[in-house]
Amino acid sequence: MEKQNLWEVYSEAQLQELERVNTGYRAFLDAGKTERECVVETVKQAKAAGYKNLDDAMKAGKALTAGDKVYAVGMNKTVILFQIGSEPIENGMNILGAHIDSPRMDLKQNPVYEDTGLVYFDTHYYGGIKKYQWVTIPLAIHGVVVKKDGTSQNIIIGEDETDPVFVVTDLLIHLSSKRMDKKAAEVVEGEALDILVGSKPLKGEEKDAVKAGVLKLVKEKYGMEEEDFQSAELEIVPAGKARDCGIDRSMILAYGQDDRVCAYTSLVAMLATKDVKRTACCVLVDKEEIGSVGATGMHSKFFENTVAEIINLTGDYSELKVRRCMANSKMISSDVGAAYDPMYSDVYDKKSSSKMGYGLVIKKHTGARGKSGSNDANAEYIAKLRKIFDDNKVAFQMTEMGKIDAGGGGTIAYILAQFGMEVIDGGVAVLNMHAPWEVASKADVYEATRAYAAFLKDAE
Ligand code: MN
Ligand code: MN
Repeated sequence: MEKQNLWEVYSEAQLQELERVNTGYRAFLDAGKTERECVVETVKQAKAAGYKNLDDAMKAGKALTAGDKVYAVGMNKTVILFQIGSEPIENGMNILGAHIDSPRMDLKQNPVYEDTGLVYFDTHYYGGIKKYQWVTIPLAIHGVVVKKDGTSQNIIIGEDETDPVFVVTDLLIHLSSKRMDKKAAEVVEGEALDILVGSKPLKGEEKDAVKAGVLKLVKEKYGMEEEDFQSAELEIVPAGKARDCGIDRSMILAYGQDDRVCAYTSLVAMLATKDVKRTACCVLVDKEEIGSVGATGMHSKFFENTVAEIINLTGDYSELKVRRCMANSKMISSDVGAAYDPMYSDVYDKKSSSKMGYGLVIKKHTGARGKSGSNDANAEYIAKLRKIFDDNKVAFQMTEMGKIDAGGGGTIAYILAQFGMEVIDGGVAVLNMHAPWEVASKADVYEATRAYAAFLKDAE
């Protein structure tokens, strides 16, 4: 299949729009390095675009009618936007779904310890990471501490130029002769991923004087006792902003592009969408990287419950309407694809691989070992999407992650498919996915916004 490099086909006006979208994207990445931060930023942008809190509509018992725009937040970690269509909602919605959690290290609940005059925060990694990639890079702490009195405090350390940063140390090469023989999976072990946070003893203190010094500062700056770590969610992420990448500035290097690149482009498409026939929906969820579990993951009833509340406010409620709405919906599970990497060509089937700068990456199936664990999108649905994309001059590529049995992965697609709706995976190609810094093409970021907008407008 001959597909075109998008940089060769964009008009001057499109190239300007591309830069505008990517400037917004970089700002979104900088504002949202955790799922909580992404929810805050999403709500901010949704409100600015006229979206109202669904809770308020529910309390007021206010009916929702065509054109109304509402959002619902679940436990500060997941958010859903709806724009009510002119058609009855039981005819189905057009849904974009992405995830806003990314691989990282989380602080344990008893994290602080001192060893030989150095103080560390103990971590437990989250999601699929190559642990050796997370040593010797500047790290930041992002998260929330909730105290027993219910007050909570947001914490970000390491992003401002004047902030300190943190690091996981690695063994010097000079003493690594044995260690260099270890397998990559074992060369840095999970328990070795502790971040260095201090080395200055508190004067007059006899035992664990450095730890005492660190805890004193934590108390002064954040009003936080050591025991408050028990009810904290502090995430360790690479410190620093998203940057243009390449002499030609054609790419973006940033943390957490899986899957904030699809979350942001879905959000942009959703906020730009007007006057829809079918209700438009954008769901940004947590916990995808650890199996979509828990109250804030896609397996949670939060989505279904929220749809039920929407239906309750749009007319006579019935469970049958909820079921029909779900079954008649169409969805793009917007998640990233593995971009073809010439450095590692042996794991890719070139003709089925995602190429940077060639548009939306459509995956009929994901999974591993013979498509196991995958949603396998139907040919009838793919044909409809091909028509929508061609009619709207949107570039897409039909891809698989890599060679058969080279590995694999999953998304949230199969979870929504359980309602009997048509779902397909479609997102942006990313190089070195799940690494502290990932690469995406600005052209693909822009094209994703166009693809998602076309889908919300024309899918039926
Ligand atoms: Mn993902
Ligand atoms: Mn992932």
